[in-house]
Amino acid sequence: MGYDVIVVGGGIIGQAITFRLATAGFRVALVEAGEPGGQATRAAAGILSPAAEAAVTSPLWPLMRESLRLYPEWVTRVEQHSGIRPELFLDGVLITALESDAADLARRQEVLRAAGVAAEWWSPTVVADHIPGLAPLHPLALWIPGEGQIEAPRWLRALTDAARHFHADQFWGEPVVQWVTDATGRWIGVKTPRQTLYGERMIVATGAWTYQLWSPGLVVKPIRGQVAALRTATRWTPEVVFFGHGYLVPKADGRLIIGATEDDAGYDTRVTLEGIQQLGDIARRFRIDASHIYWERSWAGLRPATPDGLPILGPVPGHDEAFLATGHYRNGILLAPVTGELAALWVEGHWSEAAVDIRPFRPGRFQDMDDNPRA
Ligand SMILES: Cc1cc2nc3c(=O)[nH]c(=O)nc-3n(C[C@H](O)[C@H](O)[C@H](O)COP(=O)(O)OP(=O)(O)OC[C@H]3O[C@@H](n4cnc5c(N)ncnc54)[C@H](O)[C@@H]3O)c2cc1C
Repeated sequence: MGYDVIVVGGGIIGQAITFRLATAGFRVALVEAGEPGGQATRAAAGILSPAAEAAVTSPLWPLMRESLRLYPEWVTRVEQHSGIRPELFLDGVLITALESDAADLARRQEVLRAAGVAAEWWSPTVVADHIPGLAPLHPLALWIPGEGQIEAPRWLRALTDAARHFHADQFWGEPVVQWVTDATGRWIGVKTPRQTLYGERMIVATGAWTYQLWSPGLVVKPIRGQVAALRTATRWTPEVVFFGHGYLVPKADGRLIIGATEDDAGYDTRVTLEGIQQLGDIARRFRIDASHIYWERSWAGLRPATPDGLPILGPVPGHDEAFLATGHYRNGILLAPVTGELAALWVEGHWSEAAVDIRPFRPGRFQDMDDNPRA
């Protein structure tokens, strides 16, 4: 029997789409090359922060804000059907700065407020009271209410279980190696080394590996990110703290995630000594009390990056039976719910009714490159 939708890729994006479609009553198959857990997804720190990650003028801004808005409701539904608490905390995010950068921080506050975000100015005294270890180096901060974090691997597990609850079929350890086409060239199924599955529609959510199924997929490039988990005796501060691109993410179990590096190392997911040194530099910039914080482990993942830094969301050029949901780069965890909703709009035939402007994300924007899909 054929499926309504075949989703290729079982990271946070493919799994969010699968959950959303399965709850709407579609017969969905998710096909994943590896084990449950995704690839970039298992590496993610789980930060949910439009304010720290995008300019309010970027097309990403409304997409991120919409996804953040969807988060509590999504988590409630997923938790209800999976029994797994993904540790969503929206305690706020602190964007810290040196006193010498006070003018820039004040401008940022103004811009955020004009965009409807109640960014609050924290003076050196408030910062010192709240996070004693941080005060000497980064005395100023903007507190962004309503933003926060989730525990990404648990979130993925919860989505996986909830999708199963709604009868989505999930095939692990089965890389899709080829599209099955009909006489007109339309994609009607996928081939894995083990089987052929047929479906009405296909959704490609293969992250940094998109080139395997969509020939201009090399526009989606792996950018390695290395992070580390430190262990503290107590939870350090409830908020995620940023300084530039460096961040600290306190987890409920006492771990402090420190991140993140960025480099182009192809598909190499090893942790390098240089990466560890960079993480040490970030820790020093935060001036955390290193003598009472213990190194637990470090790891790396491959962010799916695009040339313009925007995700690729929309029908595959020349294949209106297929949809791309990839290239989420640094923010795939944040963008998972809105991506699930957009994919559902497309499947239900309401693609043009999206709540956010989706034109900047269309796959066809890379038209200058060879974008004939691979059959
Ligand atoms: C160190 C690090 C920290 C990060 N921190 C954050 C953060 O704090 N907040 C945030 O929002 N984002 C963060 N990100 C980014 C986020 O992790 C990614 O944007 C997101 O995980 C992408 O999800 P995905 O499902 O597209 O990719 P993946 O998780 O990589 O999943 C893609 C899946 O497709 C499968 N696949 C590939 N090819 C095939 C095939 N041919 N057939 C079948 N399956 C296939 C792969 O095996 C993989 O499981 C971070 C990333 C890294 C590396």
